[in-house]
Amino acid sequence: KFSDRLNKVASFIPRGTFFADIGSDHAYLPCSICLQDITAQAIVGEVNEGPLQRARETVSDNHLTDRIDVRLGDGLDILQPGEVNAVVIAGMGGSLIQSILEKGRLRLKGVSRIVAQPNNDERNVRSWFSSNGYVITNEVIVEENGFLYEIITGDKQAEGQTLSERQQLFGPRLLEHKSNLFRKKWERELMKRRRIIDQMQRAKAPDVSKIAIFEKESLWIKEVLE
Ligand code: SAM
Repeated sequence: KFSDRLNKVASFIPRGTFFADIGSDHAYLPCSICLQDITAQAIVGEVNEGPLQRARETVSDNHLTDRIDVRLGDGLDILQPGEVNAVVIAGMGGSLIQSILEKGRLRLKGVSRIVAQPNNDERNVRSWFSSNGYVITNEVIVEENGFLYEIITGDKQAEGQTLSERQQLFGPRLLEHKSNLFRKKWERELMKRRRIIDQMQRAKAPDVSKIAIFEKESLWIKEVLE
């Protein structure tokens, strides 16, 4: 069975899109999209040889070599400006996604949509979106193998979007609905912060400013879950 997480990511790529999947590993996502939509085309980027080989194999096993181009390289370096309309970056830490976007900023010319699925530090992605004219048009949480993943879609729009610190942490669209998975995620995050605060307080020289940040966030979480 294909991954629920990647299926959901795929649902944010409109039919007929020419998109890039950066850090694709097996290339399951672009192959699944191109098998379902004969008008879709993709460029796959991988920085590591092993995953690159796996991507090439999946693409050729599925007879998609004419529509999926697999390239070796770091982040967005593999793209020429204007080549694709959308970019997917899934299954990495939020700060790595942010740094890939920042480093490749000038290669995003013509990219009207970015779909990001950070495994953590989601706020780094949101903060990059809001500083670079991408408005968050959709956010969802999916559960797979006991993990909760956020999928964040940003669309380039002239007016842009400013986000408060809370919106960056929780997600402006996720805050509008507060789904069951959203509650589950933030109940877990609250427990995590309680544990961390507890550990930090027992340290020989507690870092009071760090503790204060976790306490402030814990308060926000409690308010949001009310
Ligand atoms: N995107 C797939 C998914 O969501 O299932 C695979 C995620 S996998 C955990 C992360 C992949 O990103 C690895 O194959 C790794 O080689 C690749 N990667 C990490 N840093 C990268 C970078 N700077 N540029 C391109 N690929 C990168």
